Amino acid sequence: MAYIDAHCHLGSRQFDADRDEMIARMTAEGVTKAIIICCGRHDLEHGIRLRDAHSGFQLAMGIHPQDLEEDHEPSRLARFEQIVREVRPDMIGEIGLDYYSHPHTKEYQKQFFIAQLKLAAELDLPVDIHSRKAAADTLAILKQIPARGIIHSYSGSVEMAALYMKLGYSISFGASVLFPNAKKPAQVIASVPLDRLLIETDAPYQSPVRDHRHEPEDVINIYEAISALRQISMAELEAAAEANFNRIFSSKSL
Ligand SMILES: [Zn+2]
Repeated sequence: MAYIDAHCHLGSRQFDADRDEMIARMTAEGVTKAIIICCGRHDLEHGIRLRDAHSGFQLAMGIHPQDLEEDHEPSRLARFEQIVREVRPDMIGEIGLDYYSHPHTKEYQKQFFIAQLKLAAELDLPVDIHSRKAAADTLAILKQIPARGIIHSYSGSVEMAALYMKLGYSISFGASVLFPNAKKPAQVIASVPLDRLLIETDAPYQSPVRDHRHEPEDVINIYEAISALRQISMAELEAAAEANFNRIFSSKSL
């Protein structure tokens, strides 16, 4: 059995100084499966190397919605598509909409999101979705372009989670569940069936501890919080998350 970090940026520059030590720590703790999210060339180079060295690591690549400020020309999508065909990632992501940090690039975000979803559908790859303050548009686009995959770092309502699940998506929860006043995440986690639930750190980002670099091994804390909240054993939660992860990366269609 393995713990899974369903969303981490292991190729990030923040891990450049001690990446191999960090990976040795995570695998020693039992976090032997992960989705490595690569947005950009630097992250991708490391991501490819790690995917090739660890059978439990899945490689995701995508143009992040926050990353369209300087280059949102259609030629960027063509270049991306070419690299995807060369690298053959296991997933397209993270992709989506972020109206919180980048409201003024909304239209470009939608164009890039739609194009990457279409590419994933064409290549029969799952997707990893980033959606922040953009739930209605995200849902409308996912309805329009059928794909499959994961809603990452979910922080929305019970109702919205149900609508994503109706489209076949799984819901991934991060460290927000660790905050003592995490009432809303607790309600949502309780509402998501175990066979649709995943757990992630978003390392090195989203650490619940100030000034701490989030690491994949910290995902175990989130497993513990969710197992307490759902009143199920860690073994049951681990088995469910692993089955879900395996299903996303093995099935051709859901
Ligand atoms: Zn991320």
